[in-house]
Amino acid sequence: MKNFSYVRPATLEDAFRALGGEGRRDVLAGGTTMVDLLKIGVVAPDALVDITGIEALDGHEVGSERIRFGALARMSDVGDDETLSAACPALTNRPELFAIERARPFKDKRIVERAEG
Ligand SMILES: Cc1cc2nc3c(=O)[nH]c(=O)nc-3n(C[C@H](O)[C@H](O)[C@H](O)COP(=O)(O)OP(=O)(O)OC[C@H]3O[C@@H](n4cnc5c(N)ncnc54)[C@H](O)[C@@H]3O)c2cc1C
Repeated sequence: MKNFSYVRPATLEDAFRALGGEGRRDVLAGGTTMVDLLKIGVVAPDALVDITGIEALDGHEVGSERIRFGALARMSDVGDDETLSAACPALTNRPELFAIERARPFKDKRIVERAEG
């Protein structure tokens, strides 16, 4: 694996600054996919910007007209939210649509994994 630097900014501004530097820079969230890609050399960044310390990206909010998912919203939190389930049952009543059920044997993955796409 190629050596790379690692930064864990606390704000979006610092994250954008870190991502704007020289060379290839990639975002690291839960690492579910990224760590595997690093190990097999599919991605070889010069710097990895870990966004898990950025509070503003966490969680989700259910409003009267819209639902907002932060980039760090955890599938497990989304799946367990009764308010969200009442507002939009399709998002929580079909756990097989998420990685939650399939990842259950790997309990740690359930904690870190975030929705893709
Ligand atoms: C065993 C297993 C089962 C899986 N099952 C499913 C499944 O059922 N459904 C499904 O949809 N996916 C599934 N995935 C894929 C995985 O859930 C997604 O890749 C998810 O995005 C990983 O989240 P993470 O937070 O760990 O991201 P990471 O692994 O940290 O990052 C994944 C990629 O997204 C980029 N990235 C992450 N966050 C951001 C951001 N905020 N802005 C810009 N780029 C970002 C990273 O640079 C990287 O390229 C599975 C993966 C594994 C290993």
